Amino acid sequence: MSISTETFFWTQVASIITFLGTLFVLYRVLVSQKDATIELQKENITYLKDQLADAKSQSPDVLAQSLASRVKLFEAELKRLEQDKSSTLEQIKEKEAELKQAREEAEDLTKKVQHAHELLSGFLCPQCGASLAEKAYHYESVEYQGREIDVDHEYIAFECGYEIIDGVAKGRCRNSVEKSNT
Ligand SMILES: [Zn+2]
Repeated sequence: MSISTETFFWTQVASIITFLGTLFVLYRVLVSQKDATIELQKENITYLKDQLADAKSQSPDVLAQSLASRVKLFEAELKRLEQDKSSTLEQIKEKEAELKQAREEAEDLTKKVQHAHELLSGFLCPQCGASLAEKAYHYESVEYQGREIDVDHEYIAFECGYEIIDGVAKGRCRNSVEKSNT
């Protein structure tokens, strides 16, 4: 593993540790939604439930750290085997396979985290990361060219006061003002 790859790996592990914690927050936010029947949210909740079931078997940071330490251990063993002239090609191959598997597991975890990140973006204030407080839809009947049509309105409010109405930012995020002072 080159230095840059290793740095990248440890950055991933750090972001996994931080992120798995927020998965729990997101899950709590999603299940508390009044419109949890909406299909997308149902999918999100199912997805998160699966992720949390995985994560709960070990605490998130333990999971990430054990993966990271396994990779490190295998790397060290591989190095030792390669330097040891009495070691067989078979032993090296076996160790390489173990290392590859541990790395793949870490990559898999990273992919899950990235996917959850994408889901999360719609459920936290884009400015301060506060939880979603309300997401509501309502329909308005308007007349258009002599016909009555339904217009779909989406209202999103975050705990910090930030609001998004039909995709346009309206309310002010209280925390982003405080944040700029620190
Ligand atoms: Zn905010």
